[in-house]
Amino acid sequence: MPKAPVVALVGRPNVGKSSLFNRMVGERRAIVEAQPGTTRDRIYGEVEWDGRFFKLVDTGGLLPDDLLATLAPRETAEAVKRQVQLAIEEADVIVLVVDAEAGLTPWDAEIAEGLRTSGKPVVVAANKADTPDRRLAAVEFFALGLGEPLAVSALHGIGVGDLLDRVLQLLPAEGAEEGAEEEIRLAIVGRPNVGKSSLVNALLGEERVAVSPVPGTTRDVVDTPVEFEGRRILLLDTAGIRRRGRIEPGLERYAVLRAQRALERAHMALLMVDAGEGVVAQDAHIAGYVLEAHCSVIVLLNKWDLVPKDQRTDRLRQAQETLYFLSFAPFLPVSAKTGYHVGRILPLVVQVYDERRRRVPTAELNHLLREALQRHAPPTKPGKWVKFYYAAQVEVDPPTFVFFVNDPELVHFSYVRYLENQIRERYGFMGTPLKLVLKPRREKEG
Ligand code: GDP
Repeated sequence: MPKAPVVALVGRPNVGKSSLFNRMVGERRAIVEAQPGTTRDRIYGEVEWDGRFFKLVDTGGLLPDDLLATLAPRETAEAVKRQVQLAIEEADVIVLVVDAEAGLTPWDAEIAEGLRTSGKPVVVAANKADTPDRRLAAVEFFALGLGEPLAVSALHGIGVGDLLDRVLQLLPAEGAEEGAEEEIRLAIVGRPNVGKSSLVNALLGEERVAVSPVPGTTRDVVDTPVEFEGRRILLLDTAGIRRRGRIEPGLERYAVLRAQRALERAHMALLMVDAGEGVVAQDAHIAGYVLEAHCSVIVLLNKWDLVPKDQRTDRLRQAQETLYFLSFAPFLPVSAKTGYHVGRILPLVVQVYDERRRRVPTAELNHLLREALQRHAPPTKPGKWVKFYYAAQVEVDPPTFVFFVNDPELVHFSYVRYLENQIRERYGFMGTPLKLVLKPRREKEG
């Protein structure tokens, strides 16, 4: 998972952190639905504002006020201190919530002192500024030495928009949040006897492929790390592939479970089919597992040496038609036995992976959206209108795009497919399934 920037709310008890949290996240705006039965859903929320996304943490939610009330004052102070410390460690931006009704307290000053020395960007939100008088009184929090305090009212939704604007200014630059390049986790899947173990052996036998001497784990899952032109690639569950050999009918179910488990851990899959036999229903079934796991995919038409030359065009077309829902994937004829095209596989893996990791800047995406809308206006029903406001890529792996529209129900799926094609035309994403999500637009408030 890519790391989204983190914004934390801190402050002494009863200043209104969780009300402000709810205002900032809002029901409608939560991108990731809360996991029922977990306490996390009260503490973490995803916020979208002006096309940027961040994770909001309510440190107060770690120890709610009603629980705090049962603690001795000293324990409460310690708990708040821990919350602040956690925020300093985890967050990119911190919102210090204070109470405009109660005014500045020594406790606020103490928390502010800790934040100042941390060097993290901080915004002071003077909450409960419900009236003009209290909004004016908020200036007193200048004394905290953390810049201009913003007067907000979580209760009435006043000033929340300005607060979000300020937070956005302080977030790390877009694209800066991606971590270092990681190893490519590659699953090799397919029906029994399509040639998976032959292919693994062929790949490992390649001159340009260095097999790392690091031994596998003692569990029955053994991955094989290889290095290819400076890139690290982990072939997942190769023990399962290599050991199997001829498979008993009763073991097939086990093989499926095993493949699914590998796909869950994988960025990418090589889906192997037996081109000698042609693509069959079970191949399509396994392709379904690949998509469920949001893996990128390359289809390998193995045993190409067995396909008579005059039937090759037809065989390729038959494969593409049967696996029509993988139209975004490359189909590569190979032969694990003769080595035909085996040398092309890993370069293609690297290319597909790199395209998968692409992040489309918000401005470019919205430019593309405007052009796409101009070229083809979204079809609509009589008396209704469809309006696209803007779009953002909210996740990198797997690539996820959110489009904000007035009413998602009105957008026909063929139009979503059109938008997907526009993205692919410009940015490729070869071999990678894209997630396109329509969301009702949230209005700016405050
Ligand atoms: P797995 O069950 O998917 O791991 O399949 P195997 O790698 O064990 O291969 C099954 C059979 O197909 C073996 O007899 C292989 O020799 C044969 N085989 C694998 N790849 C090729 C190929 O590209 N061409 C031909 N002609 N036979 C192949």
